[in-house]
Amino acid sequence: MTAPPYVRAVLDKLEAAGYEAWCVGGCVRDSLLGRAPSDWDVCTCARPEETKAALSMPTAEKGAAYGTVTALTEGGPVEITTYRKEGGYSDHRRPDFVGFSLCLEDDLQRRDFTINAMAAHPSRGLRDPLGGREDLEKKLLRCVGDPRRRFDEDALRILRCLRFRAVLGFEIEETAKKALRDLADLLKTVSRERVLEEMDKLLAGAYAEETLKEYAELFCILFGEKICADVSGVPPEPDRRWAQLLKHVQNPGETLTALRFTNRRRRAVLAHLAGDPVTLSDLQIKGRDLLERGYAPGPRVGEVLHMLLEDVQKGRLPNERSALLGALCSPQAKADGQGLVDPGHGVGV
Ligand code: ATP
Ligand code: MG
Repeated sequence: MTAPPYVRAVLDKLEAAGYEAWCVGGCVRDSLLGRAPSDWDVCTCARPEETKAALSMPTAEKGAAYGTVTALTEGGPVEITTYRKEGGYSDHRRPDFVGFSLCLEDDLQRRDFTINAMAAHPSRGLRDPLGGREDLEKKLLRCVGDPRRRFDEDALRILRCLRFRAVLGFEIEETAKKALRDLADLLKTVSRERVLEEMDKLLAGAYAEETLKEYAELFCILFGEKICADVSGVPPEPDRRWAQLLKHVQNPGETLTALRFTNRRRRAVLAHLAGDPVTLSDLQIKGRDLLERGYAPGPRVGEVLHMLLEDVQKGRLPNERSALLGALCSPQAKADGQGLVDPGHGVGV
């Protein structure tokens, strides 16, 4: 494996000070796949203080409690993590304790998937005790250890698994597949921030649509049952962008263009996931529709649209054209006391 010079410099400095150091995780995986790594991580037997002393370069402290020192090299940041052995996850996310270790194998054992549990060194070559390389060749996402235990320890791994499925197009190994479906509820324990981070990568993946289709029920759990209800046709609460996305996903008859994630669509989905409200420009009907139905041009058109928007935002009305048009009544009908004027379910105009 060829590491960039700034990474090589980090390895060399640690080793010159008498510590073992390896490139590890995603950068090894991506190098073997011929993909450009998004970042380079190093692991070492040196403790954080020892790492800092050995490097003689600026470092950032973030994560030092978990054994991570970030070297601020000229080529970019390099995260250097002390070999660790983890134990006990009572919150499904953070280990209760982290034990430092002197053994690379311990550190590889705590990693999530075999393809992420390889270490490599420019002169010492690959360390792959868990068979990551073979799984790369088989295009298989296999957990390190028992999938049920590993997902239960840290539910983020479920989402990472789906993310790698979407980015690499790999199959998820059978017992892992079963475990992630069984434990899908734990996805609710993952912080919104991490969900967004992973979803951003997932939706950018070349296999995003297959993944969303195959694991639609997990995404439903992640993003709320009301969306599920919408997707399955039960009286919907609106959540237009995500619901539409899932509808596409669950309906193989849909054209694929609807599923291709342009940056715009991706941003829209992410904005939605981040909890951004549906705005007037998202509303599925426009002022034009009102004019065509006999409304006179003027401020009333805007008022009606805003009332519809509020109904949509409060979940009283789905943001769908037919429903919105159905909730409207012509000004004449209104004058005659007809039309839908149910404040709970529609808009009185
Ligand atoms: P990316 O290409 O997005 O950087 P990555 O696999 O490198 O993907 P990182 O967040 O950079 O992801 O993590 C680096 C490595 O740390 C992973 O390859 C994996 O070995 C390990 N890791 C990350 N998150 C977890 C986790 N939740 N549980 C166990 N190991 C993890
Ligand atoms: Mg990485």
